This record gives sequence, C-alpha cells and structure tokens, in this order.
Amino acid sequence: MRNKFIIRALVLVLAIMLSLTACSRGTDNPPNQDETENPVDIGSEKGNEQEDPIDEEDLNKDDEITEDEQEDPLEDDIDNEDDIDNEDDIDNEDDIDNEDDNLHDLDLEEDIFNPASLTVLANKEYSLGSDYTPEDLVTVQVPTVLENPEVKQLRKVAADALKEMFEAAKEEGIILHARSGYRSYRTQEQLFKNNVAKHGEEAANKFSARAGQSEHQTGLAMDITSESVNLKLTESFEDTKEGKWAAENAHRFGFILRYPKDKTHITGYIYEPWHFRYVGVEHATKIYELGLTLEEYLLGDIYAGY
Ligand SMILES: [Zn+2]
Repeated sequence: MRNKFIIRALVLVLAIMLSLTACSRGTDNPPNQDETENPVDIGSEKGNEQEDPIDEEDLNKDDEITEDEQEDPLEDDIDNEDDIDNEDDIDNEDDIDNEDDNLHDLDLEEDIFNPASLTVLANKEYSLGSDYTPEDLVTVQVPTVLENPEVKQLRKVAADALKEMFEAAKEEGIILHARSGYRSYRTQEQLFKNNVAKHGEEAANKFSARAGQSEHQTGLAMDITSESVNLKLTESFEDTKEGKWAAENAHRFGFILRYPKDKTHITGYIYEPWHFRYVGVEHATKIYELGLTLEEYLLGDIYAGY
C-alpha cells in the first residue's frame, strides 16, 4: 500500500512538473518573438537608412570644407603673386634709385647740408640755421620790383647767371623782372609772422617758409615775375609767355623751377611758377630733363617727403 501511494505521489509530481514545463514553453512562443524582434530589426534598418543620408551630408559638408580649403590656397597664391609683383616694383625702384645715385657725386655734408654750398638743400626738414649769411652777396643787375635793397641781392655766381638769363630772354622779346632774392633770417622771420597773422599758420606754412628754412636765405633763389601779371607772384604766371619761357629755359643758366606742380608732397610747398633756384648748369639741366625735384635729385629715396 505504502509503495502504491509513493508511486502515485511521484506520478503526480511528474505530472505537475510536466504541465509547468508545458506552460513555460507556451509563453515563449515564436510568434511573440517575431513581433518583438521584427520592429527592432526594421528600426535598425531604418536607422541605417537614416544614417546614410546623414553620412552623405557630412561627406558633402566635408567636400565643401575641402573646397573652401582649396580656394584659400588659391587666394594665398594670388596674394603671393601680388607680393612678388610688389617686390619686382621695389627692385625696379631700386634700379632707378641706383641710377639717381649715379647722377651726381655730391657729398652730404660738404655739398647738400652745407649752407654755403651751391647745391645746399634748404626746406622744412633741413634748416640753414639762424646764423648763416652768404659772404658774396651782390646787387643783381636786372630790372627789379621792390625797393628793399636786401632782396635785390643774390650770391655773385647766381646774380651773374640771372643777368645772362634775363638778357637771353630779352633777345627773344621776353621781359622778366626780379622781385625777391636774398632774405636774411630776420627778414624771413618777420615775413612768416606777417603771413601767419594774415592767412593763419596752416595756410602760411604751405607758401611761406619759417626762418632758417627758406631758400631765399641761401642767396641762390629769386622770385621772377612780369608786367603781364602786374609784377606779382601768382600761379597765373605759368600761363604767360614770360612764365613759360622761364620754365623752359632757366636750366640753361643754372636755375631750376624749385616748387613744381603736383610735387607738394615732396617739396612741402604749393606750386610756385615764379620761384627759381640756382644750382649750376650741370645739375639744373639734369634736374630739368629728369623732371625731378631738388629733394629727389639730391637725396633719392633717403628723402621721405611730406
Ligand atoms: Zn621764392
């Protein structure tokens, strides 16, 4: 009896175990697995599809960036070419400057910054000093305008050249008049003060020199005029036959038109068709033929201008 009970109990336990196993298999049915797995797979495929366009966009962006990067080097190349061109220009200027340097063998201290030199440079940058007075001043032997005896003077060599020039002009029917030659430091000082009072300092500075900075103190400069402009110093002198003759012939007698048109940035002065400066025939002729200012001729690229 006892054995039969045990066998039945075992059979029951087996039956329960089998039924439990059958139930657990029932919950793991494949259809459920398909339903849950498929969406995941589709999702992952969609995800892949979505990733591709993003990747392409990224690649496009990369391409664009690459193109941009390629454009930059091109611009750099162009810039480099500009730089090379500029260097060429500089080289050319150097060549010209070298030629300029060969135009004369004047010494800076002896010939250019020495107040007593015929080729002295006097301007707003290089002053003659308050104590310089030429030792060989003479009264010019040509028609003059002003009564003041001081301004009728020039240094001997310049006075002689001026006489030759006026006589040569007269032979061609051109009558020139000398208006203002030598001016002492003190005269220039007073003149500049008067001009500042009349026109203001900024304006006066463009046509009138401060004491020590005027070429008239060298005794080598003369302001020339004619009756056709009422013996005044005016820009319209350039349009008169006298003004034209002087501009075209002064160099033959050693004078240069000291403040040419459109050279204010170099000379510091407005165009003065009346102001002539003696430098000697050799230098004057070179300066005239090359169309240079005295600053450019004497100093070349050493001189920065204004
Ligand atoms: Zn002058």
